[in-house]
Amino acid sequence: LIVPSWNAFCQRISTIYSKCASATAGEVATYIPQLARQNPNRWGVSICTVDGQRVSYGDSKTPFCLQSISKAFNYAILASDLGATAVHSFVGQEPSGRHFNDICLDGNSKPHNPMLNSGAIVISSMIKSDMLMADRFDYVLNEYKKLAGGEFVGFDNATFLSERDTADRNYALAFFMKEHNCFPKAQHSISSTLDFYFQLCSLEATCESAAVMAATLANGGVCPLTDEKCIENQACRNVLSLMYSCGMYDYSGQFAFHVGMPAKSGVSGGLVVVIPNLMGICLWSPPLDEMGNSVRGVEFCKELINTFKFHNYDSL
Ligand code: GLN
Repeated sequence: LIVPSWNAFCQRISTIYSKCASATAGEVATYIPQLARQNPNRWGVSICTVDGQRVSYGDSKTPFCLQSISKAFNYAILASDLGATAVHSFVGQEPSGRHFNDICLDGNSKPHNPMLNSGAIVISSMIKSDMLMADRFDYVLNEYKKLAGGEFVGFDNATFLSERDTADRNYALAFFMKEHNCFPKAQHSISSTLDFYFQLCSLEATCESAAVMAATLANGGVCPLTDEKCIENQACRNVLSLMYSCGMYDYSGQFAFHVGMPAKSGVSGGLVVVIPNLMGICLWSPPLDEMGNSVRGVEFCKELINTFKFHNYDSL
């Protein structure tokens, strides 16, 4: 077993879960009603090890929409399908030092990285770009379900419709990128490309199913529940590198410094953390800090690092 003293481990996770429950700072996102209506008291934690040991606390079975967490998995799915070279001829690997939805490109007129809106919109446009929209959606949904070992992956249509209705910034960004020839193929219009991006932001998981998805990345792309190979090794390495440097918005550098684990957060308050060769973790608590990361989620990660030697450089 990868975690031999499982009960002792769970006991300590339970203590951290309770400790973080008392953190009441932060604000729930309000830019769409579907997020504004989220209950700020929801707090879920789920862990899945690379050999399939599992433990969850709190609201771990409640669906929430993945929002920007989807950026990590969409990139992994595309890089696994097309290879890193093809993907990175259109998107860079550098933290932007700018806000996640800023209208800016790097020195080569490419999005800085796949974890920002710019990069994620280009990544979305490249996923099975020769297929029909409906088939592309089905393809991604099915890939998510494989990553989650067949556990819950849903779609929140109200969130999708709201995202699309309040998308001026993403429209501006997409047309700006079209002007700069950022999109490899013009097979789909800007509005269908954005629809697809909003649909992927509106995919839902639970802490339990997203922990399995994270565990699949921790396990080199092989789902620990099904032993199915979902993501190629190189794509798995690449997505973890980008999560490490760019996964936590403008807190990414500090998170890498203090916590030292690849992670990706979303505006719904979800946070997916990968401890390579060990486990996947999903945390969900809607109130966000000024950077847009879940307050309890970040707190949990810091407590975890105080308790266990999970920081990337703790092994030195
Ligand atoms: N869906 C929103 C957008 O594209 C927010 C994504 C996020 O989680 N930051 O702007």
